[in-house]
Amino acid sequence: MNTQMIKFEDHTDPETKKINWETYREAEIAIGSRCYRCGHSSCFGPGYRDLCSDCKNMDENSGEVTSSNRVRCPNCTHQMSPNDDLYELYEEGTHEICCDECGEIFEVETSVSYSFESPALKKEEKGAV
Ligand SMILES: [Zn+2]
Ligand SMILES: [Zn+2]
Repeated sequence: MNTQMIKFEDHTDPETKKINWETYREAEIAIGSRCYRCGHSSCFGPGYRDLCSDCKNMDENSGEVTSSNRVRCPNCTHQMSPNDDLYELYEEGTHEICCDECGEIFEVETSVSYSFESPALKKEEKGAV
């Protein structure tokens, strides 16, 4: 059973009643429910520091890789986040970016898609006359 959860109480200041997000985040990383590299979080962790599936794929897959929050340099495998001053990557389309480790210039293809599916209504409206 690896259903470790972190309790908010353990990270709440008893006086101010405020959650200390810094130690909370560290605790999440410690049990692997938050990826220690990119910060992507999932509901449950394996119980130890771990990478998310996107990051593991980046490390292990030598072909094209798709990630929701990282890009990988094809030359030196250095990984960058769009938040590291590469905000243009959030725009749909092809982007030419420069690796900040080795200077390699490579193309990144961004595809943006959002869809929000809400559940069906619980009950049909009743009593309409
Ligand atoms: Zn990750
Ligand atoms: Zn590089």
